[in-house]
Amino acid sequence: MKRLKPYLFLSILILNFLPTSKLAAQNIRLVSDSGIAGYFANPVDGYVTCVGSFAELRRNHFHGGLDVRTGGKIGVPIKASADGYVSRINKSAYGYGNCIYIAHPNGYTTVYAHLDHFNPYLENWIDRVHYLEENFEINVYPKPTELIVKKGDIIAYSGNTGGSSGPHLHFEVRKTSTEAPTNPLLFKMDITEKLGPKFLSCYLHTYDADFIKTDGFLPYSYIGLPNGTTREVAPGKYALSAKIRDYFQSYGENMGVNYLEMYVNDIVAFQMNIEQFTFNETRYLNSIMDFAMYKKNGGMAYRFWKDEGNMLPWYPKKQKEYGIIDLPESQVEPVKITLKAYDVNMKETKLTFFLKVNVELKSSVLKRTDAPTDPMVKYDEDFYFNDAKALVLIPKYTVYNSMYFNHDIGSNSYGATLRVFDVSIPLHQYINVGLLIGNTVETDKNKLYIKYNNGGSNKACETVRNGNWLYAKGKETGEYSISADLTAPYIKALSTGYKGNFSFSISDGGTGIKSYRAEVDGNWLLLDFDGKYARLKGIATAERFGKGKHTFTLLVTDKVGNENKVTYTFYL
Ligand SMILES: [Zn+2]
Repeated sequence: MKRLKPYLFLSILILNFLPTSKLAAQNIRLVSDSGIAGYFANPVDGYVTCVGSFAELRRNHFHGGLDVRTGGKIGVPIKASADGYVSRINKSAYGYGNCIYIAHPNGYTTVYAHLDHFNPYLENWIDRVHYLEENFEINVYPKPTELIVKKGDIIAYSGNTGGSSGPHLHFEVRKTSTEAPTNPLLFKMDITEKLGPKFLSCYLHTYDADFIKTDGFLPYSYIGLPNGTTREVAPGKYALSAKIRDYFQSYGENMGVNYLEMYVNDIVAFQMNIEQFTFNETRYLNSIMDFAMYKKNGGMAYRFWKDEGNMLPWYPKKQKEYGIIDLPESQVEPVKITLKAYDVNMKETKLTFFLKVNVELKSSVLKRTDAPTDPMVKYDEDFYFNDAKALVLIPKYTVYNSMYFNHDIGSNSYGATLRVFDVSIPLHQYINVGLLIGNTVETDKNKLYIKYNNGGSNKACETVRNGNWLYAKGKETGEYSISADLTAPYIKALSTGYKGNFSFSISDGGTGIKSYRAEVDGNWLLLDFDGKYARLKGIATAERFGKGKHTFTLLVTDKVGNENKVTYTFYL
């Protein structure tokens, strides 16, 4: 996807040679077709405050929209932001939960997520789909003439469904043609964003091309907020990262910034904009922030340099080592560094300090003395590795830097284990792992699966078996090993038919729940599933099933086919 218009690209190139800073930043703007102020009305009434911003750094993704406060309440009316039609309705136990999409004539779609329920007309419409598909999880695309809405219509009521961790509305503006979330505040909505960003801390990274190849990241040291200071460094190459926050209305918030710049001796050396991204681009978050730091202590610092394998179109320049600062022995004068961050309204914050070469100092990079024998994983080439009992396929553009395939092959009581890189290396897409089952294993092979441990938690991978080999996809580095799931899912009854109400908590300690099905006298019954509480809930009505005595059954299946079934008699 190309978003850099040719003339804009050219103007950025020209501006790169100018010391004028503010002007350069304003030319990083790419989304220019954001239309007139007020086109999108606020989706909730009253003075709008937010708990999350567009492109805020989240685990493995950029936040795609605004998290709008609903006063800690469920059931706040949600209104259509502009005229349009309902283009998609999605109900899921995870992620966006109950979610509605409205397509508008201006080429953008608004998205409203974590809803509790929809307006009565839509509820009826959706109920038909549930019983037609016999599924709680639905994803439907109504025709443009089917569900037309006017600006300000109540379409739904706010909630806490899906991956939400507290009642709020997740609101997005997406470009309809590419589904790319775009900063809603570029559309000049009536949301106060009066405070500029702030630097919280800064880190100096030592850059060494060989170290990247062996270890995959740059070692760093904390340099606090070095404003106005001079720091002596050994001759070599360096890079910078910083924890930065933006705020809308109060300094208690934790919003993401939208534009970054670095100047070396007042010349632009790095620029990046965060205005829009596609679904395939959101995981580049792990290359924008320092992933090794994040894995070490959970800290999320913006990098002022670009990994070679970072294909985001957010940078005006594509050159190798973009943002890397070269400080050779011959550099006698201190070098002035200015880091800048801007919010969506171009409110600026900056940090200026000096790096001075001291030839007496030694580089802090610990060079490996042993020559690597592992093959090289090139960021832009498919990589295939196989051994007698383990194999891996790493597609191109999965690692952000070319590096040696640091790994270990071992075994446990079920068969082979394979460590893929170190947990401080991020992966952009799925890798395929194959492990050989041990030849003395007596467990039913259909109950075996591959799991990974990424330095803390274990997670079951979707696994397929071919003879004595298990194959799985994984998006994490760390150790892949074979495990067995020999236990059926657990069902805890919370409500078993009083006035037709049914509620259960369900779980599976091994591979996880694959499916569930509730029936009344053999006919499908809708039970809502909330993934975060592992809670099933629904109601059987006399209207649907008739008065009198009924039999309820619930069947829960895990991903290797272990089943648990419960049966209850109830009366309507
Ligand atoms: Zn959100």
